[in-house]
Parts: sequence; structure tokens; C-alpha cells
Amino acid sequence: MAQTSTVLGMVIASTPAGEFDRRVVLLTREKGRISAFAKGARRVNSPLLAATDSFAFGSFELFEGRNSYTIRQADIQNFFGEFRSDLEGAWYGMYFLELADYFTRENNDEREMLKLVYQTLRALSCPAVKNQLIRYIYEWKTMVINGEYPDVFQCSCCGEKLTTAYFQGETYQLLCPKCVSHKRAYIYLGQSALYALQYIASSSIEKLYTFSVTEEVFLQLKTMITFCKKKTVDRELKTEEFLRCL
Ligand SMILES: [Zn+2]
Repeated sequence: MAQTSTVLGMVIASTPAGEFDRRVVLLTREKGRISAFAKGARRVNSPLLAATDSFAFGSFELFEGRNSYTIRQADIQNFFGEFRSDLEGAWYGMYFLELADYFTRENNDEREMLKLVYQTLRALSCPAVKNQLIRYIYEWKTMVINGEYPDVFQCSCCGEKLTTAYFQGETYQLLCPKCVSHKRAYIYLGQSALYALQYIASSSIEKLYTFSVTEEVFLQLKTMITFCKKKTVDRELKTEEFLRCL
């Protein structure tokens, strides 16, 4: 029998369907990532018009059919209007949603990802942290939450605690200066870059966007995180192209 339920979540994708409807992807606390249908949501006077736009965060009342969900009503707490009014902010935001869409699954516990996306969009709304740095912090934490990242705390060869490191792309391992063989190519991570990677991996989501780095450290982070992301995400996301053009 059909039933209704209420979930807390965010619209991470929204596409037109039929003449006046919308199909949305919701990242929810209760059901992981789900697709839902919003009937009449594109009519100008529909209460679901703004509530089914990407970034809308709040509670959604769902009608649960046999094969799909339909949104009956929504109570939106945050539309994230601040960064959406500026082109660069909007593209970063869309990219963050697309990456979340890529990594999440239905009926999987996605509470950490929902929290991460929410905090990341809040950071994007605040000018204190640079958008580019937010991007790499977000990418790294996404890989950490999904368990697809190399050990950044210990040397993969001798097990010693790392303070600076050499990342070997082929084996996806970090080595200490004593264990590297200079015949191979490495990405060098100085003390600050390595510490940043460790901090992002272990810190709570609420404390992620509280630091800045020098240009040199930023480049080390960018090189390392971009490499790992290319290994983990098997295709270029649509919104990534736009970020390249910014
Ligand atoms: Zn070692």
C-alpha cells in the first residue's frame, strides 16, 4: 500500500518532466539519494516551484508509490541564495552537487555526505574561504567519506608516522623520504600540505573550512587531490568543464 513519509534533505538535481512537472534527485538523511517526482512544480503559482530547485534544503513530504516517490509538500529552510546570484559561486555549487550525486546511492547511509554538502555550500556563501580551496577540501573529504583515499598518516613501506611525504600515483601510496626510490615519479607533499590532508581526513565536517594555505601549499594539495579524484571518478563531470573556464 502507498504511504507517506517525511525526509530531511537537499535537492541535488532538478530536471523538467512532462509539460509542468519536475523530476528531482534528493540527498536525504533517511533514505540516502532518491529520485522523486514533483507534479505541477513548474507552474508559476506552484508551492513546489522554488522548493524543487537545486540547493533547496529542508523537509520534504513524500508519497511512496510502488516504484517511485512523489513530493507532496516541502518546508524549505535554506535556498542558498547568497552564492547563487554570482556566476562563479553558482558553478562551484552545481559542481559540488554533481559530485555528491556521483558518489551517493539509494538506501545507503548518506548522512555524512548530506552534512558535508550542506557545510560546503555554507562555506561557499561566505567570502572568507577561497572557492578554489573549498573545492579541493570538499573533493578530498568526499573521497575520505567514501573510503577511497590513500593513507596519509603512515609510510606505506616502513610504517613510520609521516611528516613530509612522496605520493606515488601508480601504487596510490605515500612514502616517507627514507623509503622513496628516486627513479620513480612522485608528488611531493611538504609538511603543511600533508598536515592539511590529514586534518581534512580526520576533522569533523563543521571544522573543515576554517583554514587557509599559502600558494605553494595550495598547489601541492591541488596536484595530489586532482590526481586521486581522477583515479576515483571515472568520467569528467559536466560542471567540471565550466569550472575550467572560470
Ligand atoms: Zn618509510
